[in-house]
Amino acid sequence: MRTVILRLGHRYIRDKRISTHIGLVARAFGADELLMDIQDPLVERSINRVVEEWGDGFEIGIIKDWKSYVKNFNGDRIHLTMYGININECIDKIKKSTRDKLIIIGGKKVPSDVYSLVDYNVAIGNQPHSEVAALAVFLDRLLEGRELDREFKGKKRIIPQEHGKRLVEDS
Ligand code: SAM
Repeated sequence: MRTVILRLGHRYIRDKRISTHIGLVARAFGADELLMDIQDPLVERSINRVVEEWGDGFEIGIIKDWKSYVKNFNGDRIHLTMYGININECIDKIKKSTRDKLIIIGGKKVPSDVYSLVDYNVAIGNQPHSEVAALAVFLDRLLEGRELDREFKGKKRIIPQEHGKRLVEDS
């Protein structure tokens, strides 16, 4: 199952940090790719640097026509929104399918047609919070925590310690 994150409505300057965090969370929590409808070289550079140092094949890309991408996506299309159905009520059904997953998150107000283009509108609780938190919780519930045991093959690797820090770096 391939998992693709679609970040809509990135705003230059204001969203640079949060869109970078979306990429970091997507990668660390088991997704395969981040797509954005607006290009920001600084976000791409930050994510690609982490991938180069910490490993594995996470990709970041741009799509010009997000609507036709969503329409033609061959898999389950999930929009994370506080207006959706609480994750506790729909995650079991979503997990039953082994089809690829497209997970859509917004920044500024999401275009209203997103709601009808997707298969599921999912709320991580029906209160407003953050796309980063919503993405992390959704991926963790989808993958049942297995994503946290994944081994990334990179130049940098942490040897977990009860106290202190140990980082191994290949030369
Ligand atoms: N009022 C906005 C809206 O239209 O949903 C909230 C925007 S919020 C700052 C940015 C993004 O965070 C939303 O587009 C959505 O993807 C995500 N988000 C925020 N709260 C959420 C929640 N309770 N459940 C799921 N996603 C949420």
